[in-house]
Amino acid sequence: MKTWSDIASIQPLVARMLTNSLAKQRVSHAYLFQGNRGTGKKAISMVLAKSIFCRHKSGEEPCQQCKDCQRIESGNHPDVHWIIPDGQSIKKEQILHLQKEFTYTGMESNQKVYIIEDAEKMTANASNRLLKFLEEPSKQTTAMLLTSNSQAILQTIRSRCQIMGLKPLNAANLQRQLQEEGLSPSNARLISALTNNITEALEIGHDDWFANARKIVVQLTEVLQSKPEEAMLFINNQWMPHFKERQQMQRGLDLLLLWFKDIVYSFVDNEEAIVFINEKDKLSQASLHWSKQETTDALQRILEAKRKLEQNVHPALAMEQLTLHLKR
Ligand SMILES: [Zn+2]
Repeated sequence: MKTWSDIASIQPLVARMLTNSLAKQRVSHAYLFQGNRGTGKKAISMVLAKSIFCRHKSGEEPCQQCKDCQRIESGNHPDVHWIIPDGQSIKKEQILHLQKEFTYTGMESNQKVYIIEDAEKMTANASNRLLKFLEEPSKQTTAMLLTSNSQAILQTIRSRCQIMGLKPLNAANLQRQLQEEGLSPSNARLISALTNNITEALEIGHDDWFANARKIVVQLTEVLQSKPEEAMLFINNQWMPHFKERQQMQRGLDLLLLWFKDIVYSFVDNEEAIVFINEKDKLSQASLHWSKQETTDALQRILEAKRKLEQNVHPALAMEQLTLHLKR
């Protein structure tokens, strides 16, 4: 995610708007990039900063090689300032320090860029300081505020920024990116069905717990099919010890839900939609075992178990009730 064409693959609209502004030399004084974790806020600010400073651009694409590009990449550019929360918040002193730095002209050009990550974490004092700063825009300064919650930012600050809303990633895009990051196609496929957040997806993908969770879910479906009388034992001995926390149990049920959806896709020969792509043999066996009605019932029961977990029903109880319904 280093180039405008990378960005365009996940945020086409924002990439087009920003490269247009660059081409017309109409970069705003302040941007507010708003989007969930993993939607590309940091990557966009990075490439925008490079495009502002790089002197060897091809079109609006920064070269990635020159001193400016490399120093921005490593966070060491003298005229590009990153502000991140100091502990839980961004404090007034951090904004004051920034202002002080900015009273000097740019070290190597007159251009200056500052990027505030998690901008919603500014204290009231920090916000007021920043507001003063934004009220006296200088031609050569570009501010980029990054946030997952723009409602938590002062309206007076927001109104001085060009607001760029970033879209959640769609599953196909996310899957492709996860594979580029080294995940196997089957894991990338499955995980992109669970979340649209790339950071979270990568965490899941590198987690042994998840790999085992996936195995246990498939094993449970096999036990339900071939030895239903042992299903309860399997829940007590295998499932519960692995899905200890409520969150983990929700994840396990999400996987089980995807499995039964895959059975539905097998019924209707929609191979494209299947997410357990490494288990197609087992899925076709499953589609012989379960009737359409039973599969639909199973999907409803799993959703019901998920709701019970949210309503603080004891996890073991919710899981036992679900298993009783599934093993008939
Ligand atoms: Zn460059």
